[in-house]
Amino acid sequence: MIKIAKEFKPESVFMGRLEKGADIVSSLEEFCAERGIKAAWINLLGALDKATISYYDQEKHQYFHRELTGDYEIISCSGNISLKDGKPFAHLHIVLSDTEYSAIGGHLWPNTVSVFAAEFAIFKLEGDTGAEDLVRCPDVETGLALW
Ligand code: ZN
Repeated sequence: MIKIAKEFKPESVFMGRLEKGADIVSSLEEFCAERGIKAAWINLLGALDKATISYYDQEKHQYFHRELTGDYEIISCSGNISLKDGKPFAHLHIVLSDTEYSAIGGHLWPNTVSVFAAEFAIFKLEGDTGAEDLVRCPDVETGLALW
């Protein structure tokens, strides 16, 4: 059963590159805030030398983190932008590969990344006129901020 679904139409696509050393989550949130982007789909690829990835313990309702440093390819980083506390909030997951070509992945934590190079596409979405924005609110059942 579907809990929530809102209809959006693609408005425009921003393609670009992050500065070397930039953080992924905060850079994209900042860009979306400047451009008034309240809903979007994001894809990104490239390489990084530092990141913290996480998983959510569903019983404890708590994130556990792993810090990574070294040469990693960003195989895929995708997620979305919606509103949380009135500001654009990026929810991103990432799959990285190491020097052994092994993949590791998880929820991408903000202000933990240093990219070597990263190319992104932000698919800006617009809701129907008068439609409510997609907003994250505390969800008691999961302990997460969900739509
Ligand atoms: Zn997540």
